[in-house]
Amino acid sequence: MAALNEVKLKKLVELRREFHAHAETGWTEFWTTAKIAGILDSLGYKVLAGREMLNLESVMGRPSEEEIKVHIERALSQGADSGWIERMDGYTGALGILDTGKPGPVLAFRFDIDAVDVSEAGDEKHRPFREGFASMNENAMHSCGHDAHATIGIGLAELLMERKDELTGIIKLIFQPAEEGVRGGKAVADNGILDDVDYFLSAHVGMGIPSGNVAPSCRDFLCTTKFDVTYKGKAAHAGGAPNEGRNALLAAASASLALAGIPPHKDGATRINIGVLQAGTGRNVIPPKALMKVETRGLTMDLNSYVYDRAMEAVSGAAAMYGVEMSMASMGAAVDALSDKSLVDLVGEKALLVEGITTLAPEVSLGGSEDVSWMMRAVQKRGGKAVYFVLGTDIAAGHHNEYFDLDESVLDYGPVLFAELAVTLSVREITGEGRS
Ligand SMILES: [Zn+2]
Ligand SMILES: [Zn+2]
Repeated sequence: MAALNEVKLKKLVELRREFHAHAETGWTEFWTTAKIAGILDSLGYKVLAGREMLNLESVMGRPSEEEIKVHIERALSQGADSGWIERMDGYTGALGILDTGKPGPVLAFRFDIDAVDVSEAGDEKHRPFREGFASMNENAMHSCGHDAHATIGIGLAELLMERKDELTGIIKLIFQPAEEGVRGGKAVADNGILDDVDYFLSAHVGMGIPSGNVAPSCRDFLCTTKFDVTYKGKAAHAGGAPNEGRNALLAAASASLALAGIPPHKDGATRINIGVLQAGTGRNVIPPKALMKVETRGLTMDLNSYVYDRAMEAVSGAAAMYGVEMSMASMGAAVDALSDKSLVDLVGEKALLVEGITTLAPEVSLGGSEDVSWMMRAVQKRGGKAVYFVLGTDIAAGHHNEYFDLDESVLDYGPVLFAELAVTLSVREITGEGRS
């Protein structure tokens, strides 16, 4: 399949740079969502935005309403369309639906759109800075490549509209908010928009795979749970009446040590991290409050549950030990995921036919967590097939690093490959091959 023509590619490169400059972290992607929704709408897609495409009960790790307001104002001041901002109603993410009107499968493609909590490098050796498209937003940077994901999704949206006559069934393009910290995937999966999906496809750029390569398969998605623990004790004079206090700092400190002491499991990889511990108010005060930010991981659901359950014993045990109150807030979660072999094979087969892709890379070990897993599971649970693969892309620095940048040629072969897969899966259904 031929690559995109020069004009098209140039437009996508510009769009990627716009997304890059307007980097927004999870649940604050207002400018980004409004931009995507506007383009999908102009292409002729039916569009759902923000609240309309989420199950609000499954939203995790969303900033406070006050913070959300600040981000909405910022997006508007940066030129976001107020009509779309209103439609979104405080939530981010967009869904474009193309109904071909012909009987056929339901295909869903997922692109995550959020940035990372990192301040972008501001020196000449960093191309986005040098060429004037570095993030204009403090502590928000597209250092994972989701600016490319959003752009590839838009490139795909254009190609599918052009090739509409070759398609059957329904196509859903999901632009997912808040992947970082695995906070948004479950809210999308639980909304029901995947309930009729036969084929689900998603990909990540980079991940150590060079440009021109595609790794059709990924393994080792770690299950993970992210949570905040708050201890509430009682302040008292540290010299005059320490016995009247309830020490939240000590509860959190003991809990931390107990958490770090959870033994690894013989059946496979497990992880626990206490990333933040904040406690106390003043030198001569028995500390009345403490906050811990914790995450657990495991190679399987059982392994993650093992760590999580032990962690719950530790944090509540520490509360009892020091007579303080404890509260828990769920901040993010992902499950494990497995791609279906038939789709992995199809990605490999089609990739090599796309101009710009020359090599199939071996299976990638993710060794991290991805909340696409909720969506893959939702589709597979109902008998559909799902795949998550890697679109190789040379990168200037590691993912999440402030010098991250990517080779924009992926904006060329990325959409072309996805479009080819969409057409193939559509045709496969009408020629009677059915699901393989
Ligand atoms: Zn990331
Ligand atoms: Zn990422």
